[in-house]
Amino acid sequence: MFCHQCEQTAKGIGCSAVGVCGKQPEVASLQDHLLYGLQSLSFYAHKARKLGASDKALDHFVLEGLFATVTNVDFDAERLQGLLQRCYTLKEQARALYEKAFRDHNGIKARSFDCDQPDWTLSADPVEQGARYGIEQLHADPDVRSVVEILLYGLKGMAAYAEHAEILGKTNDEVFEFFHRSLHATTDKTLGLGDFVELAMECGKHNLTVMALLNEGHVEHYGHPVPTQVNLGTKAGKGILVSGHDMKMLEELLKQTEGKGINIYTHGEMLPAHAYPGLKKYAHLAGNFGSAWQNQNKEFPEFPGAIIFNTNCIQKPAESYKDRTFTWGCVAWPGVKHVTGWNFEAVIDKALSLPELPEAPGQDILVGFGHNAVLGVADKVIDAVKAGAVKHFFLIGGCDGAKPGRNYYTEFAEKVPEDCVILTLACGKYRFNKLDFGDIGGIPRLLDIGQCNDAYSAIQIAVALAEAFECGVNDLPLSMILSWYEQKAVVILLTLLFLGIRNIKLGPSLPAFVTPNVLNYLVENFNIAPITTADEDLKAILG
Ligand code: SF4
Repeated sequence: MFCHQCEQTAKGIGCSAVGVCGKQPEVASLQDHLLYGLQSLSFYAHKARKLGASDKALDHFVLEGLFATVTNVDFDAERLQGLLQRCYTLKEQARALYEKAFRDHNGIKARSFDCDQPDWTLSADPVEQGARYGIEQLHADPDVRSVVEILLYGLKGMAAYAEHAEILGKTNDEVFEFFHRSLHATTDKTLGLGDFVELAMECGKHNLTVMALLNEGHVEHYGHPVPTQVNLGTKAGKGILVSGHDMKMLEELLKQTEGKGINIYTHGEMLPAHAYPGLKKYAHLAGNFGSAWQNQNKEFPEFPGAIIFNTNCIQKPAESYKDRTFTWGCVAWPGVKHVTGWNFEAVIDKALSLPELPEAPGQDILVGFGHNAVLGVADKVIDAVKAGAVKHFFLIGGCDGAKPGRNYYTEFAEKVPEDCVILTLACGKYRFNKLDFGDIGGIPRLLDIGQCNDAYSAIQIAVALAEAFECGVNDLPLSMILSWYEQKAVVILLTLLFLGIRNIKLGPSLPAFVTPNVLNYLVENFNIAPITTADEDLKAILG
């Protein structure tokens, strides 16, 4: 195996014996194989679409298949083999769709294809076969391969967001067209560096559409987030802890547990759920337990109820809580019970059979500053900037992770001067969201925008501020201090680059898949810089 798609990759180079995340070589090989199968499926789906033929099953499967290869999602070889079988069936369906469209269009049978990708077949040993499809095979030129990887990881991240949006009934045909076209392009050896740079930027553009769709879906289903205090303690009674990102799954669980004496707690990136009127109306949505994903092995043994993951990030469950852990949707871990569909009876029954949580109220923290809430007080914010009460905004956001060096973000937030406002999103905020930052004339100094996909909200806030001050986003007194971990962060970064956002500080380390030449390109065109120390970076920004 060789994998370096995430920030915690071994020695900052690549995982080759076993993943730092726990991914076994067999699983790595099956994921590489699945990606190859998806490229083949998209080859036909793209050709068919050019002739006016499409198929929703193919579109959906590209999301599902890519999502399964995102870091900390699917560790189950058996499930991945099932996905590969479905991928093969759907690839054949895509081929038939293309051949029919070609015949209908041209009146003759389709000839051999103008592409050097062989038609993919599934052998009896998909693990051994997958070993031939590693990322090293993508392109011989390291810089081209680097940009192709950026594109592929961006597509994986976008697939995750697009699947959440799809669950809420929000899709976009242009986005599906791009998935197929660009997946096919990643296998096209006739394309060069410039082509892939363009495709990577286009990926950022389509991801903006996807994040807007997801935002629309959330708002239509649950209303705009409103500032809300969330308790970090526990209430006496049975409990279920929900980890991941999917609000619809949480809603269904809330409905099915109503009146059953079970409290529902959020974990990690589910924290923003408390701010949605359509979710906070459930009295048994009791609070948030624990912190970011990398602490689950330390925190989950302390949670006596049932636990369910609805998306990344799952880690190997300790024996002390494995038998009360469930997965749902794209997440899987071997030996952990998987819930298929929308019936959570097994989780509910398990929670009812487990000991109660103690009455232990904790600290309250404030969430719910999506763009609607922030722009609702835009006049106050603009006046505060004009009066000099607010000097600068810092967006400190992104993923949290286990590697040392992430204390930078805590230190940075602590050292932000008192006349500055911090905007935050995603699970990186757990590094500082329990600290008391106070307020500036009633405006909280820490505004929690929400999940990673709520980067869309952050963009809306930045654009509105730029309009109010009649300048570009890059001219605002706003600095972005971002932390990345996996592929969803990659695609958000592509969206920011597509929007022309410059001067981003990125850490805790730079991606192993970015070559020096590609990094130079990013520095020259976007002035991206790695983080240094909190003091040095603050000095460089504020002067
Ligand atoms: S996802 Fe990250 S930790 Fe896991 S194998 Fe790949 S690079 Fe290593």
